[in-house]
Amino acid sequence: MTRCPFPNCPNDLPKGGVICVDHYFALEPARARFLNAAKVRLDRETDPKLRAHLAEQLEGYINAAIHSISTEEAESWRQRRWPARKQGETSVS
Ligand SMILES: [Zn+2]
Repeated sequence: MTRCPFPNCPNDLPKGGVICVDHYFALEPARARFLNAAKVRLDRETDPKLRAHLAEQLEGYINAAIHSISTEEAESWRQRRWPARKQGETSVS
């Protein structure tokens, strides 16, 4: 079994999957579908040169997906730590 590529994720990958189910649904739907499409393209490619290229691309997409989630998590953590002051609310009218 292959482990999900997300840092500290304990889940195994589903058969033929790129990321675990939890993370699939944690991602924006468009990004999650895009990752799976890239994986399918890689699986169907038979030319070794093209496969290497597609594998490299897929790795980049996965890294971007990991980054997008950790950014969101960091952001929500920041907002819990320092509750957002609403911008432009200097109600001295
Ligand atoms: Zn995962």
